[in-house]
Amino acid sequence: MPLPIDVDYARQLDRQDVLARFRGEFVIDDPDVIYLDGNSLGRLPRRCIGRMHDAIDRQWGERLIRAWGDDWFGAPQRIGAKIAQLLGAAADEVIVADSTSVNLFKLVMAALQARPGRTRVVTDELNFPSDLYVLRGALRLAGADYRLEVVRADDGMSVSADALAGSIDERTALVTLSHTAFKSGYVHDMAQVTNLAHRAGALILWDLSHSVGAMPLSLDEAAVDLAVGCTYKYLNGGPGAPAFLYVRRDLQERLVNPVWGWFGQREPFDFGLEYDRAPGIAHFLTGTPATLSLLAIEPGVDLLLEAGLSRLREKSVQQTEYLVGLWEALLQPLGFTLNSPRDSKWRGSHVSFGHADGWRIDRALIEEMNVLPDFRHPDNIRFGIAPIYTSFADIHETVRRLVAVMTERRYEKYPVERAGVT
Ligand SMILES: *Cc1c(COP(=O)(O)O)cnc(C)c1O
Repeated sequence: MPLPIDVDYARQLDRQDVLARFRGEFVIDDPDVIYLDGNSLGRLPRRCIGRMHDAIDRQWGERLIRAWGDDWFGAPQRIGAKIAQLLGAAADEVIVADSTSVNLFKLVMAALQARPGRTRVVTDELNFPSDLYVLRGALRLAGADYRLEVVRADDGMSVSADALAGSIDERTALVTLSHTAFKSGYVHDMAQVTNLAHRAGALILWDLSHSVGAMPLSLDEAAVDLAVGCTYKYLNGGPGAPAFLYVRRDLQERLVNPVWGWFGQREPFDFGLEYDRAPGIAHFLTGTPATLSLLAIEPGVDLLLEAGLSRLREKSVQQTEYLVGLWEALLQPLGFTLNSPRDSKWRGSHVSFGHADGWRIDRALIEEMNVLPDFRHPDNIRFGIAPIYTSFADIHETVRRLVAVMTERRYEKYPVERAGVT
């Protein structure tokens, strides 16, 4: 049966949505703006505003340094324990610190030291560029015989476990991948790839930035060794909010954080001159956390826990299917290609469409149509669906406006050259 393309159908889906009430938990001031970039910067949870006022007025303003003892000092662990519930991990296996890139560096160096004599790291070309830069920098420090193997994506959007298997062997120290690819939205089979790495005696490190908060994850069940991820995307933690890292419990004492600092010290306020590392995951902290940003993460995580990840994933699949269905009916005839997997089993919560005029079309959507997607080089318009607040009507209206940009040829007045943050 062809998908109904009328707006009434979108409205009907919104009425049937069991998560609909969560949209009201977010600041949505201008109902005409359609925000499909929650996978780059999540929306502001209303509760976060009160939390920030309290952190500034009462905690910083009145409690001053005493606030460290009240609420601040334990925040990396406390919020880490909540994020652990989103990851299928134990409370003491996750901590919040630094940025995703920095956490990746710490865990890559720790993994290389735990596999002496192995000089290969395997990743794929779907990985986030920052991750590739961090890997190259880390391998340069590790020594001249270390090599990064970047497995190609033959179809430009996916890399199968079989394709990875060809590069993983007894020389491999570490396999590290973005679980959900930032451009195509392709999702690796976490259990299968983890197993591949382990069979070769290598460690696995997943970057969960585009997965966490959009789908249930089972790190412990899949016996994952290490993971990092971002809190300002689907977790709605705010711009530059610190990232998280996961170290499986039995590895926590064996692995060594390469960046020693006082927040990873057993007794930081003894000010001892030797580094006596804290037990458990705490030694993966380094310096003082960005506390205001750290506290801002908690309300968004609480909302996701209330909504429930399996319901969020169910809605996300229904919404990406809906968008792909509208593409088939309305956008494919206008020259758009689907640059994401067609089968939702292999797709995260964003969908990419390619078009030779992609950059100019993206400009027209933003400048004239109040639709905020983002653009990924060279021709990719990416629509991020955050199931906790995206509505079916948002998706319907986006496609309607996109069709208008094309039929009214609105994109033609924009320059072909690219500029700025998208
Ligand atoms: C967004 C993202 C990052 C961001 O890293 P920062 O250090 O926080 O800038 C890293 N990796 C992946 C896969 C991402 O999607």
